[in-house]
Formats: sequence, C-alpha cells, structure tokens
Amino acid sequence: MVWAAGDVVVLRETWRGRVFEARPAIVVADEVDLRAFYIPPGTVLKSPVDASGRILRLPHGGWTLADRRRGATHWLSFAWPGVAHAALLRWSEDGGFLGWYVNLQTPLVPTRVGFDFTDHFLDLLVEPDGSWSWKDEDELDEVLALGLLSPAEAAEVRAEGERAIARIEAREEPFDDRWIGWSPDPAWERPVLPEGWDVV
Ligand code: MG
Repeated sequence: MVWAAGDVVVLRETWRGRVFEARPAIVVADEVDLRAFYIPPGTVLKSPVDASGRILRLPHGGWTLADRRRGATHWLSFAWPGVAHAALLRWSEDGGFLGWYVNLQTPLVPTRVGFDFTDHFLDLLVEPDGSWSWKDEDELDEVLALGLLSPAEAAEVRAEGERAIARIEAREEPFDDRWIGWSPDPAWERPVLPEGWDVV
C-alpha cells in the first residue's frame, strides 16, 4: 500500500505486541527511500496511563490508553527504510523553527492503517544552529535496570545514535536548511485516529 500526500495514517509505538502510543499523522511523502509525516499542534493522541491516570514514560507494568492533546508545536517527521532512527523538525505554533529531534526506534513496519515502530528510549536534541545533545540518557539506565533492553541492545541503540550524529554534523537532509521553510498545506485538517488504530 502506498499512501498519498494528505492521507491520514496512524503512527503507532508498540511494545511486545501492544500499542503504547498512537498518533494520527498526515502523510507528506511515501516514497521508496523516504517517508515523511506531519502532526499539527493540538492533535489528539492515545497515550499510556497507569491506574491513577498518570502518563507512563516506559512500557513497564500495566497501562491503558487515554486521549491526550498535544501542545503547540508542529512536527514534521522523516523515516528511511532499514534506518533505526527518525528525524523530526519542530516549529512553534506561529512557525518559528525550534530545531530537530532524533528518535531512536526500529524502522517503520507498514500496517493496514499506517506504520508501527518500537521506541528505543534514547533521543537526540538538535538546536537550530546544529549543536546537539543526548536526551534521556538517565532513562536508558532505568531501561537496563528494568530489563526492557539488554546491555547489547542498549549498546546498539547508542551506536545508532552515533550514526545519526554523523548525519547531523554533515548537515545531511533533513538536518540541512531545505525543510526549515516548509509549511503544511492549508487545506489539511487536524488528523484524527482512523478506524482500526487499536488493532495490532
Ligand atoms: Mg524516543
């Protein structure tokens, strides 16, 4: 299945066969070598909550999914076949560029309603000037303590982060300036989860 620009899909973060978070997104590109998606400010996601209704950071213990409205940032995310990270550009609601974000994760797996992936916990933050920093390094320690990743898997996640850093430092697309002036089609409406979003 190939999606067209403007189609609504669900990007699902799954953990051992269960949905951990589900985000409706608008397809910007679905090409052989690149996929891109847009998530507008205020989009309502399904996020994991514990028994007291608090948002869970890690897929540990039980959870249920609850509606959560995103904040006031635009996200444009990029994913490549066989690449274990995604890159996101972020803008404020009025269009001011806030920099990039690298999410370490499995490559996308196509589904009937969109794409699934598994998050790898560690992330990178990239400022508009290209300077970068690791995010959630302490979370990786917790992930190891809980046995969510093995030490070998965690080492592979960090190695993938190093590959992303090389792309950032080389200002490879999309870490260059060609997407910074991008803006969404004004005809696009805020996406909602398509039917079947909860079926893995
Ligand atoms: Mg992450």
